[in-house]
Amino acid sequence: SGYHRVLEENRKLYNEVQDLKGSIRVYCRVRPFFPGQRNQFSAVENIEDETITVSIPSRNGKGQRSFNFNKVFGSSATQAEVFLDMQPLIRSVLDGYNVCIFAYGQTGSGKTYTMTGPKEITEKSQGVNYRALSDLFMIADQRKDTFHYDVYVQMIEIYNEQVRDLLVTDGTNRRYPFIKIRSSSHKGLSVPDASLVSVSSTFDVIDLMNLGHRNRAVGATALNDRSSRSHSCLTVHVQGRDLTSGATTRGCMHLVDLAGSERVDKSEATGDRLKEAQHINKSLSALGDVIASLAHKNSHVPYRNSKLTQLLQDSLGGQAKTLMFVHISPESDAIGETISTLKFAERVATVELGAARVNK
Ligand code: ADP
Repeated sequence: SGYHRVLEENRKLYNEVQDLKGSIRVYCRVRPFFPGQRNQFSAVENIEDETITVSIPSRNGKGQRSFNFNKVFGSSATQAEVFLDMQPLIRSVLDGYNVCIFAYGQTGSGKTYTMTGPKEITEKSQGVNYRALSDLFMIADQRKDTFHYDVYVQMIEIYNEQVRDLLVTDGTNRRYPFIKIRSSSHKGLSVPDASLVSVSSTFDVIDLMNLGHRNRAVGATALNDRSSRSHSCLTVHVQGRDLTSGATTRGCMHLVDLAGSERVDKSEATGDRLKEAQHINKSLSALGDVIASLAHKNSHVPYRNSKLTQLLQDSLGGQAKTLMFVHISPESDAIGETISTLKFAERVATVELGAARVNK
């Protein structure tokens, strides 16, 4: 009957949320070849639901290596398919959980495509950021008779351990009359000086993200594709109030597009380039260290070792739900970076599986 169906659905939902709590899930996505690249050799041998097999060139012919994750998306996966699995996470932000989704991989592997979309974004090619926010507003609307939600966003960039607010408007705020720029002296905010903007629809968010992307590009012209060498983070704060009991919830979601993970040859890089590389290496390994010590349930978690981990502190560990989305390029030329990306991801995934088994 209808009643039992609702019960069953609630039970399923509850299990989904329990499954995700306090764990780190790892997804992998392979970028398609570019149109002019059809004759290139592919490093990817095989993809199954949770396994990716890559070929490794070796002296005596060709070797293979398989890696297991919670999910592997091949190059034909659509933006909608990729997002489908994240929907329970988005729902849980409205229930007061902290969520962190981040994209990891070498420059050009598709991180920005997954999180934001291609250069010209259509409804079909919208990335996780847009879909997450429109889901959030859709669910809030479905619950409007019982809950009231306030949603605020921040958008920042971390470059060379410096945090930069991407929602500054140099006095042209009037173009966004629906937006209240608030001083974010709110309790519990990770970047106290960055603009915190109240939003009430997906349209507000699209406008703001466009502003953020324009501001990010301004930095890029000065320093030649700076975007691949900085982390960008869209943070969504959700405050909920139960209209009957008055009880409140507070959830937060970080959507992070990390700097390219490729190793810069130390013997070649000098000056600014070397400094950037060192900052990126430092913050990505700080992230790895935090994840590892969470998985081992260490009493001390080294959040303070980088700006990135400080920012994500509330959304990593404890009751938070974390999804790491690793990206790889398909070309056989990229196999060196691909293997090191997959190994990093495997380290994260293996400790997660170990921790999950202990919980059961
Ligand atoms: P990254 O952010 O890792 O540096 P990008 O997201 O900029 O990489 O991707 C590099 C290029 O490949 C872009 O032109 C992007 O639009 C394209 N691309 C990446 N992933 C996909 C995909 N799954 N489908 C189609 N094009 C993609």
